[in-house]
Amino acid sequence: MTKSIPRTSVKAHIAQAPGGYPASDNVPAQELFGRDIFSLKLMRDRLPKSVYGRLLSTIENDDPISPADADVIASAMKDWATERGATHFTHWFQPLTGMTAEKHDAFLTPTPSGEIINEFSGKLLIKGEPDASSFPSGGIRSTFEARGYTAWDPTSPAFLLKSGGHLTLYVPSIFVSHTGEALDSKTPLLRSQEAVSKQALRILRFFGDTKATRVRANVGPEQEYFLVDRRLYSLRPDLIMAGRTVFGAPPCKGQELEDHYFGSIAPRNLAFMDEVDHRLWALGIPARTRHNEVAPAQFELAPMYEQVNVAVDHNQLVLRILRDTAQEFGLACLLHEKPFAGINGSGKHNNWSLSDSEGRNLTDPGPTPWTNSLFMVFLAAVLRAVHKYSIPLRIGVVGAGNDFRLGANEAPPAILSVFLGDQLTDVIKAYVEGKDDSDGWKGGDMATGISALAPLAKDITDRNRTSPFAFTGNKFEFRAVGSSQSIAPANTCLNAAVACALDDIANELDKAAAGGLDPIKSAHKVLPKFFEEHLPVVFNGNNYAPEWEVEAEKRKLWNLKDSVSTLAHYSDPEVREVFTRFGILNERELHSRQEVHLEKYIKVGLVEARLVRSLGYSSILPVALDSLKKAADSYQSIKGAGAAAASAKACFDLFSKLTDALCEGLGTLDSILAEVEGVSDALKQAEAVRDKLLPHLLKVRDTVDQLEVLVDDNRWPLPKYDELLWQ
Ligand code: ADP
Ligand code: MG
Repeated sequence: MTKSIPRTSVKAHIAQAPGGYPASDNVPAQELFGRDIFSLKLMRDRLPKSVYGRLLSTIENDDPISPADADVIASAMKDWATERGATHFTHWFQPLTGMTAEKHDAFLTPTPSGEIINEFSGKLLIKGEPDASSFPSGGIRSTFEARGYTAWDPTSPAFLLKSGGHLTLYVPSIFVSHTGEALDSKTPLLRSQEAVSKQALRILRFFGDTKATRVRANVGPEQEYFLVDRRLYSLRPDLIMAGRTVFGAPPCKGQELEDHYFGSIAPRNLAFMDEVDHRLWALGIPARTRHNEVAPAQFELAPMYEQVNVAVDHNQLVLRILRDTAQEFGLACLLHEKPFAGINGSGKHNNWSLSDSEGRNLTDPGPTPWTNSLFMVFLAAVLRAVHKYSIPLRIGVVGAGNDFRLGANEAPPAILSVFLGDQLTDVIKAYVEGKDDSDGWKGGDMATGISALAPLAKDITDRNRTSPFAFTGNKFEFRAVGSSQSIAPANTCLNAAVACALDDIANELDKAAAGGLDPIKSAHKVLPKFFEEHLPVVFNGNNYAPEWEVEAEKRKLWNLKDSVSTLAHYSDPEVREVFTRFGILNERELHSRQEVHLEKYIKVGLVEARLVRSLGYSSILPVALDSLKKAADSYQSIKGAGAAAASAKACFDLFSKLTDALCEGLGTLDSILAEVEGVSDALKQAEAVRDKLLPHLLKVRDTVDQLEVLVDDNRWPLPKYDELLWQ
């Protein structure tokens, strides 16, 4: 790749202003929104009233759908899709690759009389059977029993997606083995949603609520990403294959001036964002916020929150639309957690709350939290979930890419703690000490010193950007999710952990009530114990400070710094409890996921190592040798004892030292690769990748990066950070 486009044309590419962006659909947003989904409105218009009513109760209350109704729905879906020009449908599922998967089938069906008609039966809508032998299953299914089934999830809307000019009907689905075991990330998510709903309803009923029929987790994921020029991207095999740069000297200008954050958005980038927003709106995805992020060439897109299973699907679509649209704008969208060393990486803040079918936000304290016992129970449950079940939560965000961020002073540390702010922390302490704190928030207006401004009410807490799990007024923000990751695992773990905690608290409340106390008195009897137990997980200070690590250790909080040390904990009682108590994952499903994660971690490491090896030998070494030869020639030709001769000698010595180091580094890499590939136990192999391979890749990188700043700029084979980041 690097051979065909010489360095001089990289410069020429940069000079050319790209133009001719595809124009956004000019349909007004209100008309465009939801145009391409089989929406509730379409269902109401196109389905018999009784079928529509039953489907609605499936969507709202998880009531099962009958085969007869499925037939009617499938037919209406097919009519709508084919009227719009679709020829194919696909079950769309989320196997353990972390990505989505699809296998298209035409609606065309031959009739006995030899004609061809469009057909889509309830059977086809409900269940698909892709040959699933090549998806990771962690040993649940061996290749000789390849059956895997996709099953329609009616709670997430079907949609039409255009790609390459073709429109296809996508049916959101789960993916299970022939024994019904989960092979995907959606099945456990849906199970976790039912579990947290059931336990939350117990609490609502305890406080006398008889109306709510279900509780849903709501999620708003804030998606970070990078945009780089596609022509430069195409000259970096590491970006193409690993999603991140394995080499690259620090740029002359990074993020130190903090001038990119919320800066004015460059025209091409804004045109891109606008097109992305329009495409998302057509899919019923409420994209709302867009801005420049901290790092140069880094951006954020945030939709309005939605119920968690829809939010998961929509975030997968956001990733896809970002990637695909970028290509049309001559850009490449980088979703990796750490595309550039020394520059902030990308995460995905996962805003999470619980609300009931009456529209009540259960994580909203209202004006007087101390008297809001219902909220205090949910608060206690969240604290217990993050404290007691921190390892399962940490498991929800494992991944080789995320290891570069967590704990690297740009993202929260790997230590899970909760930021509540001083006022709410005081309310908890009042509970523990049995004091009255019923006055509510101490607020007031902010003093701006400008009389012309309308009064600005103070928020109840300031922001704490360093906390991995922050209470932000009426929701919790789990900030450890990686930008490339599906949000399904993190939310599954969160829902499951909160369900366990709610169950524990509900059991204690029931006991107190059985002893004759009313609900409020029961809460004041039960909650202090929980708050006292879990107060150590509350931390309102600077999570990036080195002292916090020391303090966290004293508080006995886990500090699992990387994916491998996290993945070693799958058999811990807390992990098994969270996943098995409500059947979110059985033991086999659980351990299969450990296998899949470990294998993925190992494979990512090996791919990066091969990239370092291949680029090192075939792109960097020839240039280093050439530079060495040129330095030797200059040294020979400049005779005498002057400054020029001394600097030619110094230059020769430097190239000589670095070329030696590169050859040696690549040679050692070969033997480390052979050694790592020879380890058979998955955990040990992952440890070898972490402890031997990755540190060595950094060593080789260090040599290459030193060469980059010394070698004649016209000969360096890769686009540099300055060029990639500043356009
Ligand atoms: P921030 O100031 O942190 O960016 P925003 O209010 O803009 O906060 O919200 C960020 C994300 O949180 C958005 O996706 C938003 O829809 C989501 N969000 C807001 N309220 C809730 C809630 N109650 N539950 C879940 N997510 C929420
Ligand atoms: Mg936020």
